[in-house]
Amino acid sequence: MGSVSLLSAVARRLEGKVALITGGARGIGESTARHFFKHGAKVVIADIQDELAHSVCKDLNSESASFIHCDVTKETDVENAVNTAISRHGKLDVMFNNAGIVGVVKTDMVDVSMSEFEEVIRVNLVGAFLGTKHAARVMKPARQGSIITTSSVCGILGGFASHAYTSSKHGVLGLMRNTAVELGQFGIRVNCVSPYTVATEMSRNFLKMTDDEIRSGYSNLKGAVLTPEDVAEAALYLASDDSRYVSGHNLVVDGGYTIVNSGSCMYDNPSVY
Ligand code: NAD
Repeated sequence: MGSVSLLSAVARRLEGKVALITGGARGIGESTARHFFKHGAKVVIADIQDELAHSVCKDLNSESASFIHCDVTKETDVENAVNTAISRHGKLDVMFNNAGIVGVVKTDMVDVSMSEFEEVIRVNLVGAFLGTKHAARVMKPARQGSIITTSSVCGILGGFASHAYTSSKHGVLGLMRNTAVELGQFGIRVNCVSPYTVATEMSRNFLKMTDDEIRSGYSNLKGAVLTPEDVAEAALYLASDDSRYVSGHNLVVDGGYTIVNSGSCMYDNPSVY
């Protein structure tokens, strides 16, 4: 083997691993699916957007990238997605609970219906629970695995999204910590990745801003803009053996936003202070 191919093999940090990615048809999930694939993983995308997901797999053009229709709010779908990863590839090393929605945004909670609140909780929190549960089911006998859930800076701060979204993202952090405690005895690591605003369909629809406006945001860190690839890189770290002793951790990818601003934007509105 020449030095170039040897190096590239060494650089592939998920060689031989099997990863299931919910919400992998677009945005952060798609970017992560592509990144994991590049790093040698066999990737199964689980999503409700069949056409988009198929086009990602077609683009990757390999038996190592495939799609399974899965609505994360339905336990039978999640169970089936995990079982499909096993039947296609023989095991499951990485579960990335990434599917999420913003839901209806209203500024007066009196106007928020119970069903609007529950819809977001069902996808973002119950979906993550089901993914964690069924991943644990197959990872426990294997006595290894990495479960990652996408939280958000909204899992740490209040006031940046709806009550439902903020609650769901706080909720997945609690779920991650509790399950990390239970599953540690089986060698399974459980972590979260928490991005700041990334330009995707979700943030475009929610913020009604251009990508440039989203990217400039209120970020404290200058000289860099947050991209889906940055979140994928954080997920790659948590998925790979590079993080073999990291569990119960929330990897915040926000350029220091949550520690600097602590929930307020004082540098953008100095007159307020
Ligand atoms: P996106 O809307 O581009 O992608 C979300 C994906 O989830 C889509 O492919 C969608 O089809 C899928 N999905 C939605 N409901 C589903 C369901 N019931 N079952 C299966 N799949 C479903 O959004 P994104 O920005 O890539 O968001 C990915 C994750 O990152 C979400 O959990 C989101 O809350 C989180 N997040 C996003 C941002 C951001 O600024 N974009 C910031 C912090 C956290």
